[in-house]
Amino acid sequence: MDRFLCIHGHFYQPPREDPWLGALLPEGSAAPSANWNERICRESYAPLSRARRLDGAGRIMDIFNLYEWISFNFGPTLCRWMEAQAPETLARVVEGDRASLARLGHGNALAQVCHHVILPLASDLDKHLEVGWAVADFRHRFGRHPEGMWLSEAAVDTASLEVLAENGIAFTVLAPCQAAFVADLDGGNRRAVSEWDMDITRPYRAMLPSGRHVDIFFYHGGLSQAVAFERLLADGENFWRRLSGAAGPGLLALATDGETYGHHFQFGEMALAYVMAQAASGRDGLSPTNFGAYLAKNPPQHRVWLREPSAWSCVHGVERWRSDCGCTNGEHPGYNQKWRGPLRAALNLLKAEVDAHYFAVGEGLFRDPRGALLAYGEVLCGAMDKADFESARFVPGLAADKRSLAWTLLSMQRFAVSSFASCAWFFDELTRIEPVNALTYALRAMDLARDTGMADPEERFLRELEKAESNDPAMGDGRDVWNNLVTPRRATAKTLALQTLLTLEAEDRLPGPGSPGQAVAWPAVTASVALDAATGDGCAAGTFTLAWTLESRLERYGLSLTPGAGGGLPGGRACLSWPDGDRQETVALEAAGLAWNKRQAAADALAGHAESRLWEASLALAAKGLRLLPEIQEAQVTVNLAPLWAGMYPGLVWRRLFGPELAPGRAALLDAFLRAAGKDNPGAPALAARVIREFLDRLSGPEPDFAALALAVTRGRSIGFDPDWWAVQNRLWERFGGREACRPLADLLWFAG
Ligand SMILES: [Zn+2]
Repeated sequence: MDRFLCIHGHFYQPPREDPWLGALLPEGSAAPSANWNERICRESYAPLSRARRLDGAGRIMDIFNLYEWISFNFGPTLCRWMEAQAPETLARVVEGDRASLARLGHGNALAQVCHHVILPLASDLDKHLEVGWAVADFRHRFGRHPEGMWLSEAAVDTASLEVLAENGIAFTVLAPCQAAFVADLDGGNRRAVSEWDMDITRPYRAMLPSGRHVDIFFYHGGLSQAVAFERLLADGENFWRRLSGAAGPGLLALATDGETYGHHFQFGEMALAYVMAQAASGRDGLSPTNFGAYLAKNPPQHRVWLREPSAWSCVHGVERWRSDCGCTNGEHPGYNQKWRGPLRAALNLLKAEVDAHYFAVGEGLFRDPRGALLAYGEVLCGAMDKADFESARFVPGLAADKRSLAWTLLSMQRFAVSSFASCAWFFDELTRIEPVNALTYALRAMDLARDTGMADPEERFLRELEKAESNDPAMGDGRDVWNNLVTPRRATAKTLALQTLLTLEAEDRLPGPGSPGQAVAWPAVTASVALDAATGDGCAAGTFTLAWTLESRLERYGLSLTPGAGGGLPGGRACLSWPDGDRQETVALEAAGLAWNKRQAAADALAGHAESRLWEASLALAAKGLRLLPEIQEAQVTVNLAPLWAGMYPGLVWRRLFGPELAPGRAALLDAFLRAAGKDNPGAPALAARVIREFLDRLSGPEPDFAALALAVTRGRSIGFDPDWWAVQNRLWERFGGREACRPLADLLWFAG
């Protein structure tokens, strides 16, 4: 019998968007990156999409899209982020699935429970939402129905499998310790099994009470663990020998966290690329496959009964996500997890109230409230536009305010279910970022519930939540966490006005009276400021508008601005007045009025704007500098007054790389200065990003000037400027690989001959 290999990567980041702005806000622990998604994408998801295979001399022989060769799942929340922020990498993920589909008749991609909730702990409605929305997202991104679905934390029970089967999911992948009994397909020879005596080289069938079934693959526990914890990724050949040694007849499947490759283990993607290239070449008679392809050729001949409920990272069933079971990552010896129960109870209570409210109010708005909610996943993933959804799902002839009400109810449900992302319970402390994020989604759901007329649930919610106690006595209980860490994150008209004004000022876009209005657009809301008239004393009056994207809601406020003593925002204040005229609120125009992450976001807007302004100035000054620069003198090592020239470093490098050749004596002086100034230059990373973008732009044109680009690389190296050419190598390989004209540039960028 043949031997087959399938390595699965679970790629997931929790929903991290600010639930008001719809954007990921800065996360301090991810600095110098903006946030963790960006950092992990750069360290792991992107390198896997273009893994290098090197020859003995360290030169690139091949750029390998590992998503063509491994089984994987990317969760919808991560895909949504990648679509906006890392579209090239997402495109490679989708290409990987297409290529595997063409090669094997079945694609590598599996769907994943939408918000990574623990399905056995979710209500029946939420199970259907999480699975249905995941299927919609998958169909939209991969252009086919998913055959398999990855369960969050491999958490499983019969009711969850029924929902998978109902949604046309054929199989899932579990840990071998989750099997309790196996038997022949007809039920004969039933016997108890453990992780140690169970044949995991074949799929099993889980029969369901409805008469449906879901097929189950079990991964190799020891080897999967070894990838994460035994440095198997340090040496590709050693990794291959372990795999080949462990594979018997049938299937050898591994399940790993995708972030292991490159993020937890630097260059881990190269070991994986090595291994999959060995398998692709048929070495040792071990062939690469994926679950769908294997299942089609090897339909189950055996049944399995699972331990229920169970999961891959808790030996107590699914207690890790609702009680003090003791499973943590051992971060703080002595901490308890008694807070887990009340956190789940509070969120369950809110969700039950939100559901009742949705169905009560939705009755008059949707043709079929449950059907509309299940189909809402089509809008969330971008497969269906709002107008089509309205005509398919809303009661005909609804007025604009009723349509907005319907959309707001759907948003409320989305945030309520987002609050159950599993990571909130995974660790050992209530005040960590994950539970606080979960509660922030609950807050947003609660606000939308109140906006749509629900009786205020906050006090009932807090009476549950206050039973949760932090392990740090200074942090208090759940009510304190709510008041001190969660509600300060709430965006209101006031905080949005402040954030908008500070951002516009940071970007030098604050409009004057009578000049065109200016907007700051976040994915979920666009905030606009327009000032009509000066009102004396430097004050101005106008309007502040919030347009909520998904909720189809427009809020308009009167705005009057009083500048500070210097005539600008600092020390000044803004006054918002509500349209009905009986409410006014004043906000001091100081960054301290914003939550940390929103304040940092405004600061980042300034940093981006400052970089552009300084860049333009440096470029212009460098042009003048180059006209004046004389020839190098005997025994001269750098330019005179080098510290004053240092501010022009980025512009001078740019002109040296891409500008006309200088006379040798002048080039020698400039290069001597740039070599010295380039050492540990803080401006070099931002300059490198600009240079890489320029290369990519030029390599996107119809007939790039390869000689000019090769010259720029050579000139850069002669002054010690040699950025990470990763993205440029990719573009060159994918567009021009094998073209003779680009050979000198390819040589310089470390491609093998
Ligand atoms: Zn446990």
